[in-house]
Amino acid sequence: MLELLKKSAVEQAKAIKNKEVSAVELTKASIERIKSIDEKLGAFNSLTEDTALETAKKVDEKVAKGEELPLLAGVPLALKDNMNLIGSKTTASSKILENFVSPYNATATQKLLDNLIPIVGKANLDEFAMGSSNENSAFKKVHNPWNLNKVPGGSSGGSAASVASCESALALGSDTGGSIRLPASFCGIVGMKPTYGKVSRYGLIAFASSLDQIGPFARTVEDAAALLEVISGYDYHDSTSLNLPVENYRNTLNNDIKGLKVGVVKELIGEGLSEDVSKAIQNAIDTYKAQGAEIVEISLPNIKHSIGIYYILATAECSSNLARFDGVRYGHRTSDAKNLLEMYCKTRAEGFGPEVKRRIMLGTYALSSGYYDAYYKKALQMRRVVHEDFLKAFEQVNVLIAPTCPNTAFDLGSKTEDPLSMYLTDIATIGANLSGIPAISVPAGFDKDGMPIGLQIMAPQLKEAELFNFAYKFEQAHDYYKQLANI
Ligand code: GLN
Repeated sequence: MLELLKKSAVEQAKAIKNKEVSAVELTKASIERIKSIDEKLGAFNSLTEDTALETAKKVDEKVAKGEELPLLAGVPLALKDNMNLIGSKTTASSKILENFVSPYNATATQKLLDNLIPIVGKANLDEFAMGSSNENSAFKKVHNPWNLNKVPGGSSGGSAASVASCESALALGSDTGGSIRLPASFCGIVGMKPTYGKVSRYGLIAFASSLDQIGPFARTVEDAAALLEVISGYDYHDSTSLNLPVENYRNTLNNDIKGLKVGVVKELIGEGLSEDVSKAIQNAIDTYKAQGAEIVEISLPNIKHSIGIYYILATAECSSNLARFDGVRYGHRTSDAKNLLEMYCKTRAEGFGPEVKRRIMLGTYALSSGYYDAYYKKALQMRRVVHEDFLKAFEQVNVLIAPTCPNTAFDLGSKTEDPLSMYLTDIATIGANLSGIPAISVPAGFDKDGMPIGLQIMAPQLKEAELFNFAYKFEQAHDYYKQLANI
């Protein structure tokens, strides 16, 4: 069964259709694998075995009746633990939601169920998706399947580790400043953030609502494209949801890219890049050249401000979004309060971890009277300037490439005392969130210690099909994606 778990999602789905394996057998194998290795990885906060098997049974009934199956039916998936699945705990890896049970399904979750995709468990994350290493989970750290002493990246570290270790073939994550792409890059898999508005966030625990997007993790570009088809589409429940038809991205994966233009982001390939990552980017440039694309150097002069902008906007938005966790309506409530105000204060002091508290304080400060214009308003203006840099760039090129991260996965514990150096990890990914554009990380080789490197590709808003096309062309030119973590 391990051989089958190592196959791509599309191949697993085919095996079910051809009756080489039943969906129940495959789902059980995924759950068994989680039970046998996850103690070492920490990728899951909880398993949702009953729901998964119920879905798998439905698949097998359809197979027995000879009915047509949805594309990814029966393929095990890990759901980031900040998305609701009825009856399961949705904790956001926070003590404040430790015992919170989802009362309804997130729209993305509902689409998975409608497509008969068994959800095997809730994947660990940085508390409320705030972090780049998954060390901010209130429950346990996630370890990188390629080297257990290294971080998997964050905040969707559990989702990425699950797919990289073949516990599941697929996962969903959320990406506010890089939380899908960074862990995908550190774990050697594919992770994609769609255009803002492509996937409904209804039922996703909000972090920074003007940036949050749900997106797919997989081991191949084709699988990621197929999973995005499943979860995208208009939703009345999310006012930012785009009312556009769901596209078929798989039809155009192998399109010729001859004559198309690839921009290399100058500011993201210079100083501070590790030698191995730098070589990997050169290799990507050579690959696209050999396929007939034209390489153009592109400047995004304001991208250097993106971290500063992000840490004003994201903290401001989270200070407002997290105000609802007050001990009255959700989750934890202190057992030791003499009056209402003390109940609020103690509940929040006990329930939130240090990084979440830091962000709430920063955000409240940035929004406070007298500072609003200097910080929040300025950051909004600068966000527009960064967006315009991207618009100008896309007048010249079809896609942009850059590393997903200037370095590969770092040692557990090596950055926890230094939040600023942790924040810098996201220098290459935040721009896409500020601009609302789609971006993907694909496996692009390994460093001298055997740790995976990610190539990031970005495209204009709504150009997902072109993005997947470029990602697929690079993937198929190499065999990086075929190499799996040995765990
Ligand atoms: N690492 C970034 C942060 O800590 C991004 C997180 C995310 O995308 N959810 O805010």
